[in-house]
Amino acid sequence: MDYEKLADLLFPNSDGNIQKYFDKYPKRNLKDGEEVVRIAPSPTGYLHIGSVYGAFIDRLIAHSSNSIFYMRLEDTDDKREVANAGDIAYDMLCYFDLKPDEGYCGSKNEEIGDYGPYVQSKRVPIYLDFAKYLVKQGKAFPCFCKSGGGREEILKRREEELAQSDDISNKDTCRNLTYSEIETKIKNGEPFALRLLSKGDGEKTFKFKDRIKGEREIRENSKDIVILKSNSIPPYSFAHVVDDTLMGTTTVVRGEEWYPSLASHLELFEAFGIKPPKFAHTPNVCKIDESGNKRKLSKRKDPEADTRYFIEQGYPVQSVMEYILNLINSNFEDWRKQNPEKDYLDFPFSVSKIGSNNPIFDFVKLNDCSKQVISRFSAERIYLDSLNYAKTYNPKFYETIKDRKDFCEKLFSIDRLGKNPRKDIAKWSDVEPLYDYIFYSLDGKTIADYDFDEKFDKNTIKQVLAGYAQVYSQNDDKQTWFDKIKELGEKFGFCSNMKEYKLNPQNYLGSVADLSGIIRVATTTRRNTPDLYELFALLGEKEVLHRIKHTISLL
Ligand code: GLU
Repeated sequence: MDYEKLADLLFPNSDGNIQKYFDKYPKRNLKDGEEVVRIAPSPTGYLHIGSVYGAFIDRLIAHSSNSIFYMRLEDTDDKREVANAGDIAYDMLCYFDLKPDEGYCGSKNEEIGDYGPYVQSKRVPIYLDFAKYLVKQGKAFPCFCKSGGGREEILKRREEELAQSDDISNKDTCRNLTYSEIETKIKNGEPFALRLLSKGDGEKTFKFKDRIKGEREIRENSKDIVILKSNSIPPYSFAHVVDDTLMGTTTVVRGEEWYPSLASHLELFEAFGIKPPKFAHTPNVCKIDESGNKRKLSKRKDPEADTRYFIEQGYPVQSVMEYILNLINSNFEDWRKQNPEKDYLDFPFSVSKIGSNNPIFDFVKLNDCSKQVISRFSAERIYLDSLNYAKTYNPKFYETIKDRKDFCEKLFSIDRLGKNPRKDIAKWSDVEPLYDYIFYSLDGKTIADYDFDEKFDKNTIKQVLAGYAQVYSQNDDKQTWFDKIKELGEKFGFCSNMKEYKLNPQNYLGSVADLSGIIRVATTTRRNTPDLYELFALLGEKEVLHRIKHTISLL
């Protein structure tokens, strides 16, 4: 077969000269060890939390080698394309502090860098030249299959058959078409897809070293994979080979789901005589579902798989990223304990510590991590971030706090300045329910809203509160405040010596801590609050006494 002639017949409008692209996009000037990594989302919906995990690994690998992390939009599957999803993906990356250094930046008409266009739909002429080049080399052939259903259907069926079997030769009759048969079909206007003429032997294996999975034995590709669909658009396999080559990607970091098709991608690189980049297949972020099974987080089934969920819940970016970093390198947690003040990006990330097990995204752990992160924030930051969150998601709370900066900062300073700061807020949506008793009057509460310890009867509580109302004064310093509670305790039978109380609890109504507990619940409805003395200072004497009286009236 005269392949040059065949190539011209199939692609009369392309020259099949790929050298011009190598001239146009010269090799990046990289120092030893520098790794250029890309994120290549398809605009098929909102960004998955797994994509943030992947993008974070991309950036860590690129930046820890002082190199480039760039973005390419893989928008060749227009049937699945969701309007603006590319822009949203970019915005989300920026939101999560993963702004790419180069490439696509938020709109199909905007990009930074010398290796563009970074949007696949704009690169079709390039793909056609690369496809034609392969035909010229006798490494690709047209496939006209269309009988027995629609064209798409037959192609899909063929792909399914191929997926189940490595033996292509008997199946794809188009492999053996002669030039004149092809010419007739082209003249008749029959559409065709282009397939790689695989040289591989599915019985043979070869060794491959993945940056994350280590050395693996994989089977040679023997499938004549589609490299151009009948609309002249390439599927991922072909497009990424062309793009990663021309854009100078040194390391393809991508999800584990691509591992099974790696051999076919490697065969494509080989067909072009191009040294493939390094590959790093990242594990999948999983969850334990209701029935206790570990499975991949799914955007369809799990609301938390969608990055918007974390924004709507008000998780600080730093919390999500620190938690994800922990999923990437499990030694992050220890490092964080030893370096509480450092920026999380100072963590010495290591590819070898990623491991090949699929990490489990666990909300209890995320919340713990986030509480730690927020406990290191200043009171001002807690106020401003809560306010900012409330502005969009909780207008009532926004109105409540917007003119109370000083007050809120005092509140968010209580128990937070010491060595072991209070860890109660995991996300900004927690702030109102955690502190509503401070911001809103308790007048509408009923006794059922108060979390009094059941071991005290109403009468005791009433008497204790009445006694406390008589002695409480806003002007007391902390010691006096505490002494007064002790005295009150002695009067009513609450022991102020914890040792003695533990030895002989039967001799007392309770401990002095129980007594402060009663006062705490009576004035806040909660058993657990920040330091009561400081809370009272914030609430003011009038309000404290009003609350006590109101509680007494309910008893
Ligand atoms: N467009 C592919 C996806 O969104 C990218 C895979 C890759 O990173 O190579 O799954």
